[in-house]
Amino acid sequence: MPGVSDAGPQSDESATDRRIEELRAKGVEIVAGSITDPAGVTRAKYIPLRRLGDFQRSGMGVSPSWSVFCVDTGIAFTPTIGVSGDLRIRIDPNDAAVIDDGIAWAPGNLTDQAGDPAPLCLRSLLQAAENAAAARGLTVRVGAELECTMLAPDGSPASTEPWSPYGIRTSLDRSAFLVDLAATAERAGLRVEQIHTEYGHDQLEVSLAPTTPVAAADAVILTRIVLGRAAARHGLRISFAPVAFEGGAGNGAHLHLSLADEQGPLLSGGDGPYGIRPAGGAAIAGVIDTLPDLIGVYAGSALSALRLKPGNWAGAAACWGLENREAAVRFIAATAGSPHGANAELKLIDPSANPYLAAAAFLNSALRGIDRQLELPAEIPENPSQSAGTPPPLPTDQRAAIEATEKSAVAAELLTPEVVEALVAVRRYELNTFGDRSPAEITQALRLAWSC
Ligand code: GLU
Ligand code: MG
Repeated sequence: MPGVSDAGPQSDESATDRRIEELRAKGVEIVAGSITDPAGVTRAKYIPLRRLGDFQRSGMGVSPSWSVFCVDTGIAFTPTIGVSGDLRIRIDPNDAAVIDDGIAWAPGNLTDQAGDPAPLCLRSLLQAAENAAAARGLTVRVGAELECTMLAPDGSPASTEPWSPYGIRTSLDRSAFLVDLAATAERAGLRVEQIHTEYGHDQLEVSLAPTTPVAAADAVILTRIVLGRAAARHGLRISFAPVAFEGGAGNGAHLHLSLADEQGPLLSGGDGPYGIRPAGGAAIAGVIDTLPDLIGVYAGSALSALRLKPGNWAGAAACWGLENREAAVRFIAATAGSPHGANAELKLIDPSANPYLAAAAFLNSALRGIDRQLELPAEIPENPSQSAGTPPPLPTDQRAAIEATEKSAVAAELLTPEVVEALVAVRRYELNTFGDRSPAEITQALRLAWSC
């Protein structure tokens, strides 16, 4: 595991002892290790601080069925995932961050008892994608935006007064919460770039600095946790539902991707549009090419279709364009206004998607485009729904989207057949359970499903 020194068990033990002392000095009593499952739900086990080393060495036991737990209490058993067997969550003590009074948290890998990654360890899947990029001589950076909706403790709207999008009033009305959020995030080691109240009523956004892919997905989960804890201290709850209230704005979970080789960034400094180099164009083409197969991954929940529509800035069209907020891929060029350089933002991802899985799909589809030297499609610079060069429509029917992912050879190639099987099982369960309910009923049922 990353973070383990190769100097032998004794030095591991003293490193763990030191870590225990550091965490004890911060008041930590218990440590959580979590995994985020194919339904996008984060689930955890806790140990008393003195057992920190065991959380790394032997891990904490979980049933294989954790990977097919659903957004409610259902379990979507598959031919390969039943009631028998046992897996482990293993953490790296160096990752432990304080998330609340007395509690530290670390992201877990899902492993077998011996310590090898389980086929449904989505964090390891993203690590493998990161390694595949490195094997091609590419460094990868992923940045994340987290949109969410503030709620009252009973799950009703947090405020009833009129809302002003990005309003200084609507944000200052929550000043104590925002200050607490920023301070807690800082203490937890997060690199928050920006916080703002968003367009939708009671909507909030936190964006994170780009980093390596697994670290970026870990940071998404840590930010969700920190948001949830800080909100609770101020009489609020946080919804990560793609749409929290019928007719309300959608919550996106946009990811930004940039790639570089030894000559520099792939998305700037070249001869293509906005300086895009051929491999960078192929990467964007790869992402667009696989969208119809991967909507079930990026926006696959029973609530996702309520958001993924033209006019919502949700990127519901399979195209790219410079700063185009209606395109699935919004291209951000290298300018003085973009301190982290050029990148491709995949806007259609929503927070019901597992961030490790979404990032793996995004990165692997970009690598596939590079391997196949796909040609960058023509840019759609205007609103795609009013564009002459209309891009192919994305499936709007959620059952069709899940079926497309299930039948897709590309999805199986990029994400493994085991992962696709589990994802399809939990998403189909959701559709069968909630799919026929009205928007008001389904938003109410799933409003807190992805909260941490
Ligand atoms: N809330 C929009 C979404 O659902 C995104 C708005 C924005 O571009 O920030 O993705
Ligand atoms: Mg936003």
